[in-house]
Amino acid sequence: MRSRYTAFALDLVDYLRATWHPSTRPQTLAPDPSTQWKRLSIENAPKPEGGRGTVHFTAYFFEGGWHALEEVSRFVFEAGRWYYLDGEPRLARLKLGRNERCPCGSHRKFKACCSG
Ligand SMILES: [Zn+2]
Repeated sequence: MRSRYTAFALDLVDYLRATWHPSTRPQTLAPDPSTQWKRLSIENAPKPEGGRGTVHFTAYFFEGGWHALEEVSRFVFEAGRWYYLDGEPRLARLKLGRNERCPCGSHRKFKACCSG
């Protein structure tokens, strides 16, 4: 899961394709250099059962403004490895106050970090 996020961050399209279950994998998967992935927060990752697992995460990224992508991803275990199956992403644009904590994960105030 974390390795898939890293792949998104680095635009490793081939790796994403390889870990995406064939039944749900898109025909084409193009890298998007305008999206800057900043931080991954795992909200919940219950112990997988019967070859199925879920990971609830929020990923923060910058693309003309700060956004949060929240998803409960479903994974399936086949042939000795985990594959991403699907998920329902919820996308939100973040409205950040200057004194709020920066979404990049630095633990600094937004105004003193990534506000521009
Ligand atoms: Zn920051």
